[in-house]
Amino acid sequence: MRYIEPHGHMVSRTTDDYRAMVTAGCAAVCEPAFWAGYDRSSVDGFRDYFRQLTRFEPARAAKYGLPHYSWICLNPKEAEDLVLARDVVAIIPEFLSEPNVLGIGEIGLNRNTRNEVTAFEWHVELAIRHSQLILVHTPHLEDKLKGTRLILDLLCAHREIDPARVIIDHVEEHTIRQVLDRGFWAGITLYPESKSSPPRAVDMLELCGRDRIWLNSACDWGVSDPLAVPKTALEMRRRGYTDDFVDAVLFRNPRQFLSQCPKFQLPGHDAT
Ligand SMILES: [Zn+2]
Repeated sequence: MRYIEPHGHMVSRTTDDYRAMVTAGCAAVCEPAFWAGYDRSSVDGFRDYFRQLTRFEPARAAKYGLPHYSWICLNPKEAEDLVLARDVVAIIPEFLSEPNVLGIGEIGLNRNTRNEVTAFEWHVELAIRHSQLILVHTPHLEDKLKGTRLILDLLCAHREIDPARVIIDHVEEHTIRQVLDRGFWAGITLYPESKSSPPRAVDMLELCGRDRIWLNSACDWGVSDPLAVPKTALEMRRRGYTDDFVDAVLFRNPRQFLSQCPKFQLPGHDAT
């Protein structure tokens, strides 16, 4: 079996996780910039993190033969300090030419505040200016529906944005259709306690089809499972889906989206 982990916060994970992912068939891992669990206090704190995402972590993954890609941004949880946010957005272009950077992400909204919207817009404008792919985080629980609508409206207000180059992540049953209907890609996140479970993810595939959808573990420093994606293949097989279906959802779909950035390469995997 082969799969891509399109959303993993590997700086928070152990070498055992890398080994287990590669053993399970992981062909590439992609790491969006994220909240560290505490607010960084300066632009230099972000610069160090972006260096970690573009230099150290790819080298660590390479020890296990795993290609590692990154997305760069200031995450919505740290967008309330707009002075700091503006200064962080200003240094992002320094990193967009790094060989493992795929685009801007995971941007989005957390509590749907005015300042979060402002920082979101700055990132979208940056992505347009530099022709970058965009990865969007949608809010948790009760804020998700409203936040997703707001994000889609904000993105659709930019005529330069091609929805096929934007993935809206952490969709759930009540948000997936509007994301797909408006031409965007949708990411389903598999968490042990919240977001989606493997059975719910496969239910969504059965209701919405398998096109323009990827699955991810979004593993980080909290309760999460770096093997959640390959484990979902078990649920697919239990329901009688073929190896081709599993490969399409877990490998070919994310490859199709990510390959829109020419830097995304999978040595050893042919184009089929
Ligand atoms: Zn994330």
